[in-house]
Order: sequence, then structure tokens, then C-alpha cells
Amino acid sequence: MIDEFSFIEFLKREFEGGLIGDDCAIYKNFLISLDQMVEGVHFLFSRFPPFYLGKKAVYSTLSDIAAMGGIPYLIFLGLTLRKDIPFKWVKEFFDGVKEAINEYGVALAGGDLSRGETITISLTVIGNVNKSGILRRNGAKARDLILCTVGEGCAKVGLEKLYSENFDEKFLSDVDVLKFLIPLPQIEVGKFLVEIGVVSSCIDVSDGILRDLKNLCRESNLSSLIFLEKVEEIASFKNVTVDDFLKSGEEYELLFSVGEKELPYFLDEFGKKFPEKKVAVIGKFVEKKEKYLYFINCEGKRFEISGDGYDHFGGSA
Ligand code: ADP
Ligand code: MG
Repeated sequence: MIDEFSFIEFLKREFEGGLIGDDCAIYKNFLISLDQMVEGVHFLFSRFPPFYLGKKAVYSTLSDIAAMGGIPYLIFLGLTLRKDIPFKWVKEFFDGVKEAINEYGVALAGGDLSRGETITISLTVIGNVNKSGILRRNGAKARDLILCTVGEGCAKVGLEKLYSENFDEKFLSDVDVLKFLIPLPQIEVGKFLVEIGVVSSCIDVSDGILRDLKNLCRESNLSSLIFLEKVEEIASFKNVTVDDFLKSGEEYELLFSVGEKELPYFLDEFGKKFPEKKVAVIGKFVEKKEKYLYFINCEGKRFEISGDGYDHFGGSA
């Protein structure tokens, strides 16, 4: 099977018209996106509490609206259930859905139910474009700096803890496990990023920073240099390895770019608006080179990167 990155390239070539390639499709004043969660791939039935699963399904879908700075309104939910799933599980799942949509002022507007061999959750979200504009994946320019929001916990570490052999119910209150179970969509940050007017590109981190940065590079037709010492510093602050920090998927933090000149203004305003939230400058875009991603250290030495995060079809960089 081809890797997910090449798969999207294939789809973009086959289905021209410019709707495919960003976090949401833009149609008139609407933002529309579909996401799926599949048992055995995105979650293990035995460990993932249904209440959290309902919340995460909504959160992950809303995150694509956040990535474009939009405002979410409606959700449609398709659910395939195995015959042996007890109603208690279904009720808890929908309690989670309800809590999440209430938190973000979104309505469940419809969906579909089906029987099947594995549980599959499919969500479509419809939102409005922000009056100030739209954050796109394809707007970055060479020399723009690459930033990311840095939240608490690491979803990749959380996943490993949740599914480890020595799992204990107590793990459910661990910060990394919670980041994996219920990663909040950055709707307010996304709105701010578009309203401040100096953000040139944006994506939400669903497949890991490296893989999603590669998506920004592909859409903007650029390459990127990742500041090695900077990511080492953040990883150590988060108490995870650099590899875990850069490859952790389903984080739903935002990865975006700001012009060199506008950076001080941006950081200042961000700090005022979100005093509790950390944002870090982790690299910069450069003209397109042979590869999309390189590390660079403070002495200017470049290193190539191999392997870049989670791929649904098992390919590598
Ligand atoms: P995200 O991680 O934000 O959900 P993806 O990286 O999965 O986005 O997808 C990238 C782009 O490819 C999106 O515009 C998405 O709508 C599109 N895409 C993904 N899968 C399909 C598919 N099966 N058919 C058409 N477009 C697709
Ligand atoms: Mg996305």
C-alpha cells in the first residue's frame, strides 16, 4: 500500500478543483471536514472509556475547524457498532459527545447508525469561515518562522501508558494519558491566529509535528529547517524524548508560521491573550530543497530526518 502522504498527493491529482488538501474544504462561507475513528486503529475497546471516546471523536473533528481559524456549528455522526456492544457503552459514548458539543456550542444535527464487525465513528463538522479570513496550509513563505502551541502532556506517551501491560485505572488521571484520551481542540487559538493577521499558514497536529510540517511544506511548496536545540529544550521541559515530541500524533495543538518581522508583535499579543498557554518557535521555512524536512543546529549544521510520525498505511518519510 502507498503511504498516506502519497495517497493525498494522488487524490489531489485525480480530483482537481482545489477542495482537497487542507484541514477543511472551503465552500462558500462554510468549512467542512470529515474524520474517522476505527476500533483497533484509533482506540482499543478494552481500554478506551466510552465517555472519553465520545468526547475525543468530537474534539478531533472540531480541531480541523480550529486549524483554519473558523467557528464550528454542526456535527453529523455516523456510528457502526458490533452486535455485542451493551447499551451502557453507547449511552456513555453519547454522554461524552453531548458534553463535548456543549463545551464548544456545537449542535449534533444528524448522522447514521449501522451494524458492523468493528466499531467505526465517522464525524462531519460544518463551520463558518472567520470574518477576518482563513488560515490555510499553503500560505507559508520562505524565511517565515515555524511555531507550535505546546500543551500539557504527550499523546504518544499517553497511548503507550494506556495500552501497557501493567495498566492500572489510576493511569486515567495521568497528564499524558489524558492528552491522548481528550485532547482539546484549539478553537480560541485558531480564531486568534486568523484575527491577528500575521499568520501565513496553519495545520492542526493530528499525525505528529514532523508529518504535519511536511504537509505544510507540500502545500506551500517549501522545505523546512527544524531548530534542533529548540526542540530538545521543549522536549526536556515536557519530560519526553525529542522523538516523542516530534512524532506524537492526535495532539491537536496548532502548527503555524509567522513572518520574521511580525514575530515579536505576534509573541507579545499571544502572551497577552493566552497567558496560560505556551507557544514555541521551532524552525523556519526555506526554499524547496531535495527533502521537505531538515534539522539545523545552532552552528548552522544541517541533518537529514528519517521517519516522521504516524502513517495509516505504514510508509515512512
Ligand atoms: P486531517 O489530518 O486534517 O484530517 P488529512 O491529512 O487526513 O487531514 O487529509 C488531507 C486532505 O486530504 C484533506 O483535505 C482531506 O479532506 C483529504 N482526504 C483525505 N482522505 C480523503 C479521501 N478518502 N477522499 C478525498 N479526500 C481525502
Ligand atoms: Mg487536520
